[in-house]
Amino acid sequence: MPKAQETVLEIDLKALKHNFEHLKSKLKSNTKFLAVVKAFAYGSDAIEIAKYLQELNVDYFAVAYVKEGIALRNAGVKTPILVLHPQAVNFKNLIEYCLEPSLYSSKIFNEFIEIATKEKQTNYPVHIKFNTGLNRLGFWENDVDYIASKLKGTNAIKVKSIFSHLAASEDLNEKVFTENQIGNFISIADNVITTLGYKPMLHICNTSGILNYPEAHLDMVRSGIGLYGFGNSEKENKNLKPIGTLKTIISQIHTIKKGESVGYNRAFKSDGFLKTATLPIGHADGIGRQYGNGKGFVMINGKKAPIIGNVCMDMIMVNITHIDCKEGDEVIVFGPESTAESFAETANTISYELITAISQRVKRHYI
Ligand code: PLP
Repeated sequence: MPKAQETVLEIDLKALKHNFEHLKSKLKSNTKFLAVVKAFAYGSDAIEIAKYLQELNVDYFAVAYVKEGIALRNAGVKTPILVLHPQAVNFKNLIEYCLEPSLYSSKIFNEFIEIATKEKQTNYPVHIKFNTGLNRLGFWENDVDYIASKLKGTNAIKVKSIFSHLAASEDLNEKVFTENQIGNFISIADNVITTLGYKPMLHICNTSGILNYPEAHLDMVRSGIGLYGFGNSEKENKNLKPIGTLKTIISQIHTIKKGESVGYNRAFKSDGFLKTATLPIGHADGIGRQYGNGKGFVMINGKKAPIIGNVCMDMIMVNITHIDCKEGDEVIVFGPESTAESFAETANTISYELITAISQRVKRHYI
């Protein structure tokens, strides 16, 4: 692998293929696979990732917002795209770009019917989201009759799927809660099927759901984090390969005397001789201030170098007193060995937050 010469997020497409195939191997052959590529494909660049997964015949994509779906269509992605959290102001565009909305409340449901009717659509595919315990977005069980009565009065839309989202599929202490969510969803689905007179696709599992609740795979699963190489526990991580390696280089080495400080606000003061390296990556690149002052660390020549002082906008300083290294040497912020999860944990957060925060200023490099 080429050594980094600047800050770069290296994406291993072979690892992506491995994760996709591994997760798919857990499913029955007729269960569809939806790849969640919202938030820049969890930081990996949705366009590159979606084009690659499209070649691997993924069944569906999901994004959060209409804008994300339009970017995929403009890049030539033809696979169906579910928009998880659309706003009515973008519905005309959504239809123009053949994106499929999640409709999660009476308000958004009625607004979509109105616009689809105005746009002279028939049987436009929509996905109805039900809340089964996450209490974030979704209709309630007792809204089924209302939805059905509205659908009777229009042929502008057709329900392609009904779905829900698990709140704690990664937490086996919450097994009873999750099984209740799944049970509630199945009973809502039965009610919808009886009331509508046809069966839309059913889906509820995210990555941890796929791995921990095989009985809930239903007609489709929706995976994000697993594709990018992470589960939510050691057991889930087994057989998944992190696809991203965030690399940078040493810009400059300083020697610091006792009593001198490093960085803004003099947040670090040295109590002895010290060697520090300055790296071209900072909070504008997604390494937030919460990683500063000894919390986060990077790897240089196989050794841990803790971040000292406050994280700057474009730089961090690390302690390299104990490391044999020179200016220009490669630095690993996270990768398959020193993982994004362990880096995220140093600041009490999760891999999802860390990887989606890597800003677009950081070059993505695909291998
Ligand atoms: N489905 C929905 C509705 C989501 O919001 C998400 C992610 O936040 C996913 C699926 C994918 O979850 P995961 O990344 O844990 O696989």
